[in-house]
Amino acid sequence: MKFFKTVTGNSIPLPVFFPDATRAVLKTLDSDDIKNTKTPGILVNTYHLYTTPGADVIKSHGGIRPFMNWDGGVISDSGGFQVMSIAKNGGGKNAITDKGVTFKEAGKGKIVFTPVMSIKLQLTIKSDMVVVLDDFTDLDADKNQARETVERTILWAKVCKAEFEKLCLEKHLEGDKKPYLLGVVQGGPYLDLRQECTQRLVEIGFDGLGYGGWPMSGKEGSFNFDIPKVIANNCPKDYLLYGLGVGKPDEIVKCYQLGWTIFDCVLPTRDARHKRLYTFNAKSIDEIDVFADNFYSYYVPDKEKYYRDQQPVSTACDCLLCKKYSRSYLAHLFRIGDMTAGRLATIHNLRFYSLLMEKLQAHYHHEN
Ligand SMILES: [Zn+2]
Repeated sequence: MKFFKTVTGNSIPLPVFFPDATRAVLKTLDSDDIKNTKTPGILVNTYHLYTTPGADVIKSHGGIRPFMNWDGGVISDSGGFQVMSIAKNGGGKNAITDKGVTFKEAGKGKIVFTPVMSIKLQLTIKSDMVVVLDDFTDLDADKNQARETVERTILWAKVCKAEFEKLCLEKHLEGDKKPYLLGVVQGGPYLDLRQECTQRLVEIGFDGLGYGGWPMSGKEGSFNFDIPKVIANNCPKDYLLYGLGVGKPDEIVKCYQLGWTIFDCVLPTRDARHKRLYTFNAKSIDEIDVFADNFYSYYVPDKEKYYRDQQPVSTACDCLLCKKYSRSYLAHLFRIGDMTAGRLATIHNLRFYSLLMEKLQAHYHHEN
């Protein structure tokens, strides 16, 4: 697979990174700003959109793209991570059953979130990739508990697939108009469970598989590359492999080398607002080598040494911030706490990630 196809007829070169526009916005940016960073697509959160503005509002616009005037790619998540978090925090042990997830929400009372609901909502959003509802394996799950989440994940995957095919038929979504359907692999750190889950999902049949989100790493926070390796080794070559919530720039490069081509993460946008910018260790865009060790650094914009620095943040970047403003001006904006600081920093970090992906795309399309 060389391209990520959108239901609106665009082909986006793989690999891709989609930042998290959880509530149909990347904080401080509008859709034009996102486009100008050469970010090809976004991830939206199904459950948050179901809460606000609600499925009826999105439906009345004809999908999330017209709603936010965005013409790039869109992946919707299943909404599972949010409802599971709410349910596990407040609903107790019986909150999650084979039927779905039960939880209480202020103002709405008891909600049962089911695999069928997740698929219906995502087809209302009209994303390019629909993600099945899964039961994520807790970080501290023992093997029996992990096995239980795998079984429920498989069960829900079947329900989701049946609902997806039914709705696509009803809505006449076929060929290029039909979104991708992504299965999600669970099993925690147990590689035999990951392998089994992968194989059983492939039997059901999907366009691709994903894994990750929380908890994707070990307790100490280090990235376990054995998991993406096992999944990649156990599914067909033409599957799209999506690292959900992956990740740091170096983790993306390593997963790409294992065959993964779709990524999303909150890091570039969240870090930007928390004064953490990413810069390539290179003098120009041409000199960037994403396969080198330590190919990037963090830049803390409000350090005193930058107060009078008239250089751009990075000469290996062509974003709005680096083209038009100095380190000194950015330091000033952060020091006075102006929102423009967050906007310019977010634009820069998104361009960092899109440059990273451009370098990987050049490599990928040369190799394949
Ligand atoms: Zn920049």
